[in-house]
Amino acid sequence: MIAILLGGPGVGKGTQAVRLADETGAAHVSTGDLLRAARREGTELGRKAQAYMDAGELVPDDLILGLVREHLAKLPASGDVLFDGFPRTIAQAEGLDRVLAETGRAVDRVVVFEAPDETLVKRLAGRRSCPRCGAVYNVHFSPPEREGICDRCGGELVHREDDHPDTVRRRLEVYHEQTRPLVEHYEAHPADVVRIDADRSPEAVHEDFRQAIAGARR
Ligand code: AMP
Repeated sequence: MIAILLGGPGVGKGTQAVRLADETGAAHVSTGDLLRAARREGTELGRKAQAYMDAGELVPDDLILGLVREHLAKLPASGDVLFDGFPRTIAQAEGLDRVLAETGRAVDRVVVFEAPDETLVKRLAGRRSCPRCGAVYNVHFSPPEREGICDRCGGELVHREDDHPDTVRRRLEVYHEQTRPLVEHYEAHPADVVRIDADRSPEAVHEDFRQAIAGARR
């Protein structure tokens, strides 16, 4: 089962993906996390991606597709995958189809997480992330047990540079201009598209998300 999680920055895709991956054993593939790891490691990709990420712009499609292809090769060939934050453009969606077709696979389900921009801006202001395991917290709505420390792996939490207000506004524009059209793109294709109201508690969203993915795995 190959699922794509679509939605604006801060909508809760990462939180939901980490949790469902823990519960089901699916691989969670977040291109944002992979890029941040490449930056920490100081790889060529990390250096190339840096300026785009800090400005809230998209990293070029060829770099992203190379990264995803390389990462998929390390995963079990027939395992379930939750793509989080990828694809973000039509060209990436088409590239993903080509990469999956090489191993006889295809996208099975697209889950669209929806919430108003005001909700996303508020959530991102309070968001704290674990650079080590990808877990996400919010100082107002879902704080970690110990301030600044990840409950899951003990890593030190950070307020991402690109979660500051100016960059957030640009990331939202980029989402509406370049990524949101993917909803219609997938609605015109064989993959099942499920929309979830993400302006609710993480619990309520999790329940709908779990069911959407369970439907795809049957
Ligand atoms: P995220 O953690 O998904 O919010 O991603 C953080 C930043 O990484 C984005 O604002 C982009 O600069 C970059 N990025 C992550 N995934 C992609 C992607 N699929 N395509 C282009 N840029 C990406």
